Amino acid sequence: RNKNLKIIDGGVTSPWEQLEVRLPSSDWTEFSPEKLRPDDEQPSDSARVVFELGYLPSVTCAEGLHLQAECTHPTEGAAHAHSSIRGVEDMASLEDLHDGAIMHNLFLRYQQRHIYTYIGSILAAVNPYQSLPGLYDRPAVETYSRHHLGEISPHIFAVANECYRSLWKRLQNQCVLISGESGAGKTESTKLILKFLSCMSQHSLEVSSRDRTSHVEEALLESSPIMEAFGNAKTVYNNNSSRLGSSSSCISARRATSREAGLLTNRVVRQNPGERNYHIFYALLAGTNTQQKEAFGLTHPDAYHYLRQSSCLADKTINDTGTFQDVLNSMRTMQFTEENIGEILRLLAGILHAGNIEFMTAGGAQAVDSRDSMAMALYSQCFQLDHPQAQHPIRGKEDFKSISILDIFGFENFEVNRFEQFNINYANEKLQEYFNKHIFSLEQLEYNKEGLVWVDINWMDNGECLDLIEKKLGLLALMNEESHFPKATDDTLLEKLHSQHSVVYDVRGMLEKNRDTFRDDILNLLRESRLDFVYDLFEHVLSRNKQDTLRSTSKHRRPTVSSQFKGSLHSLMATLSTSNPFFIRCIKPNTHKMPDQFDQTLVLNQLRYSGMLETVKIRRTGFPIRRHFQDFCSRYKVLMRDVMLPDDPKGSCIQLLHLYDSSSADWQLGKTKVRTDVFAFV
Ligand code: ADP
Ligand code: MG
Repeated sequence: RNKNLKIIDGGVTSPWEQLEVRLPSSDWTEFSPEKLRPDDEQPSDSARVVFELGYLPSVTCAEGLHLQAECTHPTEGAAHAHSSIRGVEDMASLEDLHDGAIMHNLFLRYQQRHIYTYIGSILAAVNPYQSLPGLYDRPAVETYSRHHLGEISPHIFAVANECYRSLWKRLQNQCVLISGESGAGKTESTKLILKFLSCMSQHSLEVSSRDRTSHVEEALLESSPIMEAFGNAKTVYNNNSSRLGSSSSCISARRATSREAGLLTNRVVRQNPGERNYHIFYALLAGTNTQQKEAFGLTHPDAYHYLRQSSCLADKTINDTGTFQDVLNSMRTMQFTEENIGEILRLLAGILHAGNIEFMTAGGAQAVDSRDSMAMALYSQCFQLDHPQAQHPIRGKEDFKSISILDIFGFENFEVNRFEQFNINYANEKLQEYFNKHIFSLEQLEYNKEGLVWVDINWMDNGECLDLIEKKLGLLALMNEESHFPKATDDTLLEKLHSQHSVVYDVRGMLEKNRDTFRDDILNLLRESRLDFVYDLFEHVLSRNKQDTLRSTSKHRRPTVSSQFKGSLHSLMATLSTSNPFFIRCIKPNTHKMPDQFDQTLVLNQLRYSGMLETVKIRRTGFPIRRHFQDFCSRYKVLMRDVMLPDDPKGSCIQLLHLYDSSSADWQLGKTKVRTDVFAFV
């Protein structure tokens, strides 16, 4: 008796697409119930069921039933169901579109502890500064793994799931770009995504056989506590600020840290008041047993110059002993031998001891510098060693696809901004450029290609800013040029910069830091080490340094820190350009790291400089559904089974569209595609 209605799937290209079927409520149960859900908001004599095209190739319904199929935007639908006091799940459905309205919506949701909101395809995450029960537990992982992005309430797991699905569906590299100020929640978000992916890969392991690849997946996911202990520290802005890493990844090796890691190693020897050295040092002191302490000659954090300068040794939110255990566990999972672990701990202890060496000779300033350089060199090499890619390089597998998660320290603007801030902000500008390109430029290009009229959206182009940094006679070029003059000082650099540009960075120490790549004399010294472990650490660095020198264009010019940094950034960008991106914007609701406090001005500022408003606008005016004529017809002709459509796809499209909206306000016809705002169809 049942009529079989076949819905042909032309391949789901966007996670947002669903087919909605409207039918009397008595009949909707005929559909496979777990795949379909009724919409409570509908009048009782009919129910709407929303399901996903890709998942239900055929649908059975009672005979004589009037079936009306509609394509809808799920989050838009969901948002409408909500009252305005509760806020909306997707900003694209806001009635008033301006920064204030976006901020207010986040505020409304934050009050109800809904920290996630979609801004078009972007996820906004407001840091709750408290653990929200059930939000990230196993059932949550399972729920989100069964739904497409936008089907159920916004969540970071929804993004992670979409990313994971896209990887397999498109067989394309994926990347998640997580941005936001320091303390906004980037690293936590990274960890949550890793957690989700880890659950997914474990799940897939149960199904498929454990092969080598699966092992690598696991190993990489496990490495995160190590990365964190070695790369994070307490700063004034964040008790767990990532100072070293710039991206972490899983599924395959795509960590972009490597050499820019050298950039911030000076934290090993110097910290600002109220900040700490890298967690691992305190963890070492808190976690080792008496026997180990004796073996390494370790006592209390207070006893070490490298730890006590800042007068901040502990923080009640940081569990140093726990960190130590996590690191050890991770190392073991990653198949570090006990001997290896011992060597690493010994090296860390050695760094602390070195810091206590004092010099009495005249010109002892210089000796201290050498001591510190050595400590930094040791630490950064040790960090590279702990780096999973070094342990499990995946080579020669060209079809290997990866998910990269970028947790890049956000823009920094302190009272005094120095070399580190310059580099960090430079990296952020590059990421902003990538974001702009994906959200705005590519969109504009598509409009042009299709011969459509471009809606003018005023987005902030940071091209000029990047030119200022990167172009000929730009800041980087001037700084590097000056770094190569042995006689140059910070003052001459300042003069030079000011003759070309006006900048608000403090140049003090800039040249020295920029020149501060591995010093050959120190490398040579360390290579003389009687410890095989230390010798091995530095063996290859020296040869790499030599290669760099040979490779650089002019003779005897070693690459500077900033030119190396630029190189890594550019190769990172090259990777990103071949990846399918997801964006997460972390938002800091207050500067006191407090729960339930929402500083409206602070949030508004973050929304403004990240171009969120423009993003929503483009999402809304951009006619989110784009389909080739043929595709559009085969998908939607089910709506007009009684109408005779012309043979050519374009003609059919026009007829279909005119029947729905003769004013053509809600759709546009390009050269090859139909663009429409699907809500017009409801
Ligand atoms: P960032 O990496 O952006 O500098 P973090 O991810 O380290 O910031 O977050 C800073 C702090 O905020 C964390 O240590 C944690 O206490 C809190 N936090 C961030 N995100 C969440 C979250 N989703 N749930 C609970 N607390 C969070
Ligand atoms: Mg961080």
